[in-house]
Amino acid sequence: MHPATRTAIYRRLRAANPAPTTELEHGSSFELLVAVMLSAHTTDKSVNAATRNLFPVANTPAAILALGVEGLKPYIRSVGLYNTKARNLIGLCQQLIERHGGELPADRAALEALPGVGRKTASIILNMVFGQVEIAVDTHIFRVANRTGLAPGKTPREVETALLANTPPQFRKDAHHWLLLHGRYVCTARSPACPTCILRDLCEYPRKTPVRAPRPASRRLRRALLAGHDLNRRRRQRTSA
Ligand code: SF4
Repeated sequence: MHPATRTAIYRRLRAANPAPTTELEHGSSFELLVAVMLSAHTTDKSVNAATRNLFPVANTPAAILALGVEGLKPYIRSVGLYNTKARNLIGLCQQLIERHGGELPADRAALEALPGVGRKTASIILNMVFGQVEIAVDTHIFRVANRTGLAPGKTPREVETALLANTPPQFRKDAHHWLLLHGRYVCTARSPACPTCILRDLCEYPRKTPVRAPRPASRRLRRALLAGHDLNRRRRQRTSA
């Protein structure tokens, strides 16, 4: 893809959404970490449903740790794989307290050493909490980067490397959110909304959803239109007579 096209794509995404952010509800860095960690293989909606119950009761490492695995489970039951995530979240809180004084570490290796925290979660935290230029690649970003031609790659890691290398500096900080939201709401997996997509003329995807031709009028509608036409014609004849 030509660099000018890439810049044009990000300009349009920025114009449509100047301050993009996550849809995971959170009020602190720790809450964000918990929400992102819970969001693996599940929707933001189900995570928000869980954290709306959990955070008013426990929103610090010490408070969640005090719930224990069994005490935590009822709060996160709406989230996929909640049994494993409950165990991981308790382990994560324990490690944060024991190794980091209850604070989030600003370091990828330390973040990824936390139970339940993988590369994607660490990238989001480094980007959103510590302002580092990181582009976490999830399924939506992987799809959009490949379809548009912004950063083709066979694996999320390849796409991440390409995006970090070729995203113009002024767009790097927010690229993750723009591409994710575009993939979630416009460039969806099964039926991308190409006819109304703001990137349509810039996107290199060869199998864009075609613009649907308007449906031919039904026989009943055609009869009604013809009847109206005849009626108007007769009225005009009467007026001119
Ligand atoms: S034109 Fe279609 S394939 Fe390309 S980004 Fe838009 S929705 Fe996705």
